[in-house]
Amino acid sequence: MCILVVGSVAYDTVETVHERRERQLGGSASFFSLAAALYAPVRAVGVVGDDFRQEDLDLLAAHGVDIAGIERRSGSTFHWSGRYHDDMIERDTLATELGVFADFHPQLPAGWEGSPYVLLANIHPDLQFDVLEAVADPKLVVLDTMNLWIKTTRASLERVLRRVDVLLVNDSEARLLSGMTGLAAAADAIMAMGPKRVVIKKGEHGALFFGPEGVLAVPAVLLSEVVDPTGAGDSFAGGFLGHLARVAAHRDDGDAEFREAMIQGTAVASHCPEDFSVAPIADLTSEDVAQRVAWLRAMMTP
Ligand code: AMP
Repeated sequence: MCILVVGSVAYDTVETVHERRERQLGGSASFFSLAAALYAPVRAVGVVGDDFRQEDLDLLAAHGVDIAGIERRSGSTFHWSGRYHDDMIERDTLATELGVFADFHPQLPAGWEGSPYVLLANIHPDLQFDVLEAVADPKLVVLDTMNLWIKTTRASLERVLRRVDVLLVNDSEARLLSGMTGLAAAADAIMAMGPKRVVIKKGEHGALFFGPEGVLAVPAVLLSEVVDPTGAGDSFAGGFLGHLARVAAHRDDGDAEFREAMIQGTAVASHCPEDFSVAPIADLTSEDVAQRVAWLRAMMTP
């Protein structure tokens, strides 16, 4: 079943201790779409400027992503720039230039209102809300966000959270959103805001799932080299919701498929840091994912 995603389609400038790459394809919707397209049909909603390279749109389309919802407007494409610390985990945002996102009002192409799975990727929560308003009775809504929106647009975020089935956040975002230090208490507080299930990502320490039937901890794949972790969270979301859409799991089903989705998300995300930009996710095959899933299952078996 198909997945509707709204998020940023961006150019990223990324600095690591080794290298600097300018204006390469990025954005939460780009990483998510390429990852989720391995599992299910994806419909992308977003906006790019007149500087956006046709080859980047072609790349998404070549992977089966329906780009009819990506508008091209006069102005600059959203640009994010960040610098990673030596640990290749922590990063500082150097610039966030909204460009054409500043006055974007998402419009769904005809027929997309019935999309059963919805991923509200990292973007201003009012845009996430607008898209949700336009979709009729989705089976499952998953939301990703970041510290910027928790700090600057909390009321808008809380409004959309009330209508979401699953929230994906990292550990510091979970603490910031909930005001709790312990992650179990943070997850409980977040579930009281609306989502029935919460995923807390902990980078190289894996990810935690909290649902009605309990908790699951999934370790991260141990990588020998990290080139650029940008987009790993969005790629996780792609594997996670991709799996749920492929098996058509519903918000009222038990946790079993959500727990499997944690493993799929972890396996997909583990490829993202292997190279810059979307290259590792664009090159990914289902066989590559299956190998990492097997590796993870073996590591999780006592
Ligand atoms: P991740 O590494 O999974 O957290 O995602 C990084 C991606 O998020 C980059 O490709 C950025 O273009 C995008 N991004 C960063 N900040 C924002 C923002 N404020 N709104 C939307 N997308 C953003």
